[in-house]
Amino acid sequence: MNFVIPLPATPSLPVTGDERRFPVRRIFCIGRNYADHAREMGASVDRGKPVFFTKPADALVGDGNDVPYPPATSNLHHEVEMVVALAGGGRNIAPDAADELIFGHAVGLDLTRRDLQADAKQRGMPWDTAKGMDHGAPVSAILPVGAGRPDADTPLSLRVNDELRQQSPLGAMLWSVPEIIAELSRLFELKPGDLIFTGTPAGVAALEPGDRFHAELAGLATLDGHVR
Ligand code: MN
Repeated sequence: MNFVIPLPATPSLPVTGDERRFPVRRIFCIGRNYADHAREMGASVDRGKPVFFTKPADALVGDGNDVPYPPATSNLHHEVEMVVALAGGGRNIAPDAADELIFGHAVGLDLTRRDLQADAKQRGMPWDTAKGMDHGAPVSAILPVGAGRPDADTPLSLRVNDELRQQSPLGAMLWSVPEIIAELSRLFELKPGDLIFTGTPAGVAALEPGDRFHAELAGLATLDGHVR
């Protein structure tokens, strides 16, 4: 096939223990999925209906890479999250059929221009400019499910300049991974290559130029980087 401009690169992530890479199709995210974080943001801690948003796939930043401080903000926040990578998809997926669609797990940062998000919330406007900026999705290598998988006790954590900023067991999520996949599949036909950010626990705070971050899904995945 011929294209009128050069074909854009396919965003992708490394796979732990495999020389091949995972091609990324879309990035879905759930908001307010830990009660302690919903509380710190002044939101309701009732489960209610899940809040979903997306980021462009080319917002990905791989492990070990610098994150340029984004323009148009003076309050860039970190949100450490488990990331689920899908090898399968579909519509109207039952929660008990969701697990077999998972390729693997990673840890990532849902970087957020908090000042733009606060303004959007206040005006009832979309979150795209707050969440979907370039370099807004640092993600670790993906650990395939055959090599290990998290459980409810697995700690998710983030250190900035060696200081612990966020830490929670995954079991504190309000919507479990199978429930998130089921709910998302009522809104979108999920596809192989989709990533899902599964929400952040309390402790979100600002990142500044020069900060080093270390995110961890204990024993399974780590993500290191530097804001410049
Ligand atoms: Mn988030």
